Amino acid sequence: MTGGIGSGKSTVAEAFRQLGIVTVDTDQASRKVVEPGMPALTEISAHFGADILQADGNLDRAALRQIIFSDPQQKQWLESLLHPLIRKWIAQQLGAAQSPYVILESPLLFETDQVQLVDTTVLVDVPVELQIKRACARDNNPVEQIQSIIDAQLPRDIKRARADRILDNSLPLETLSERVATLHRELLKLIHSTN
Ligand code: ADP
Repeated sequence: MTGGIGSGKSTVAEAFRQLGIVTVDTDQASRKVVEPGMPALTEISAHFGADILQADGNLDRAALRQIIFSDPQQKQWLESLLHPLIRKWIAQQLGAAQSPYVILESPLLFETDQVQLVDTTVLVDVPVELQIKRACARDNNPVEQIQSIIDAQLPRDIKRARADRILDNSLPLETLSERVATLHRELLKLIHSTN
């Protein structure tokens, strides 16, 4: 399942969990692999210096973002360290899931090789103006910041063309669980037709 920032992925994922479906969040993967005690955090602090850690031992994400934003080589170093670890964490979570199907929730499904991990794709879709409005209201962030994140993601029409299914999330929240239940039944049918 994919969708740009503010499209409603987390909200839709929660509705699927209510139906007993396991969801795996790629954003959570990128936080998990750098938790204290994980080997990646030791490597990161050895590479960038202990200042990259906060007093409580957690990664100072803002400081790291600052470094890699202005230095493509460091960005590359970090990505080559984290990418395989994130992929491994995701594969483990997907493999361990005990529901009829599993949802991989990723804002960058089509932009990365994560799409290779899934059998079918669902786009949580809203018009860009609504995406910006909801993301700004949720995070209390300026429009420009949300816009720059949107600009770094694939354009809406390309995602719409690539997705196997589209869940229209411009409709009111009150109708979401019903629409998710319909999609859930379709996905169950899909499993039965392919197995
Ligand atoms: P994402 O995970 O894709 O970034 P979220 O699920 O956090 O998006 O949704 C962004 C914001 O929009 C949240 O505040 C959420 O409560 C709200 N939202 C999600 N779906 C709807 C909807 N159908 N109607 C109104 N608000 C919604």
